[in-house]
Amino acid sequence: MSRPPTDRPAPRAEIVVDLAAVRHNVRVLRETAGVPLIAVVKADGYGHGMAPVARAARAAGAEWLATATPDEALGLRAAGDTGPLLCWLSAPGEDLAPALAAGIDVSAYSVDALDELADAVRRAGPDAPPALVHLKVDTGLSRGGAAEADWQPFLARARAGEQDGAWRVVGLWSHLACADEPDHPANDAQQDAFERALALAADIGLRPELRHLANSAATLTRPGARYDAVRCGLAVYGLDPAPGVPHGTDLRPAMTVRARIALLKRVGPGDGVSYGHTWVAPAPTTLALVPAGYAEGVPRHAATGPTGPAAEVAVGGRRRPIRGRVCMDQVMVDLGDDDVSAGDEVVLFGPPGEGRPTAQEWAEACGTISYEIVTRVGGRMPRRHTDSDTDPQEARA
Ligand SMILES: *Cc1c(COP(=O)(O)O)cnc(C)c1O
Repeated sequence: MSRPPTDRPAPRAEIVVDLAAVRHNVRVLRETAGVPLIAVVKADGYGHGMAPVARAARAAGAEWLATATPDEALGLRAAGDTGPLLCWLSAPGEDLAPALAAGIDVSAYSVDALDELADAVRRAGPDAPPALVHLKVDTGLSRGGAAEADWQPFLARARAGEQDGAWRVVGLWSHLACADEPDHPANDAQQDAFERALALAADIGLRPELRHLANSAATLTRPGARYDAVRCGLAVYGLDPAPGVPHGTDLRPAMTVRARIALLKRVGPGDGVSYGHTWVAPAPTTLALVPAGYAEGVPRHAATGPTGPAAEVAVGGRRRPIRGRVCMDQVMVDLGDDDVSAGDEVVLFGPPGEGRPTAQEWAEACGTISYEIVTRVGGRMPRRHTDSDTDPQEARA
C-alpha cells in the first residue's frame, strides 16, 4: 500500500487519477456504443482534471468532447485541444463569439437563444469557422431544451438561420431523466418524443447529422437510444451510472483519494469524539486523524447520520469506519487495535481491491451519487495524474 521510497514524504492528502483507466473506459465505451463517443469533461472532468482527461479520452478514440459551459470549452482549446467540441449551457447575454471563433459547437434551446447566436455569429466575423449548432429539445426531463409546444418556431428559426448562412445545424439532441432505471416508462416516452422532434425537424428541412440522446446509463443499457453519438460522462471516469443494473461493460474507476495519518490517539470507553460528541467510544480503541475534511469535499454526511452508517476508508488493506463528525480540515477513523503508524496511508476511496472502498460505496453511505462524490472532492488536495500502463508501481500507490 505504501508508496515507493522517495526523498519527499507523500502529500498530506491527495487525489490520484489514473489516465490508463480513463483510456480503458473510453475504449470499452466506444466499443459498446458502436457510434462516436462524446466524452463529457465538464466540471473539471468530474473532478478528475479536465485537460489531462480530455487528452486521454482523445488518445483512446473519443471523437468528440463536451463541456457544459463555453468557458470550459475555451479552457480545452487553451490547453491545446483542437478536435470536435460541444458546449451546451450559457445564460442570456453571454457572449458566444469567442466560442464560435475557437471552432466550438454550441447548443441552443430557444428562439431567443438563436437570435442571440445570430448576433454572436456577426461579431465572430467572417474569418471565424462556420458556426455549428446543436438544437436541444426537451423530451421530458423538463430541464434544458425547447419544450414541445415551442419546437415548431424553434426549429423553423434554426432552419431560417441555416438558409441565411448564419450557421449549420449539425445536431439535434435531448437528455434522459431516468436512464439509470432502464424499465422506467419515461425512457420510452422520451425516445418517442425525440422521434417526433426528429420528424418535425425533417419536415422543416433540417438534416442534423448528429442525433444524440444517450448519457452513460443509456449508452450501457439502451442500445436503441445511441443514435449517431453517445454523451458519456460518469462512465468515462469508470464509475457506474446505474448501480445494480447489469450491463457487462468493464469500467475501471480512475480516481483514488488518499491521505496520510497525521496522528494516532488511544481513547477509552466513554470518550466522545469530534464535534458534538456524536460518537462515544464504547471500548478502548485507536483513532487516526485523517487530514482531509469537508473543505476537501469529504461530505459531512460521511459520518454516521440520517443517511446511514458511516463511510469507511482503507488502512493497511482493511476497512475502517469514520467516527464522529467530519470537520472542515480533518476526520477521525477507528482503527481498533490495528498496528498502524502515524504517516501510514489511508485510502478514502478508489478502484476496488486491497480493501479500498469505492466512490459508489461512499455515495451510498452519504445518501448521494458517485457523481457528486468525485466532482466535489478537491479543495486543498493536490491532484496528480498517473498512468498505470507505463508506471504500474504508481497505479498501486
Ligand atoms: C452531464 C451530462 C451528460 C453526461 O451524463 P453522464 O450520466 O455522466 O454520462 C450528458 N448529457 C448532458 C446534457 C449532461 O448534462
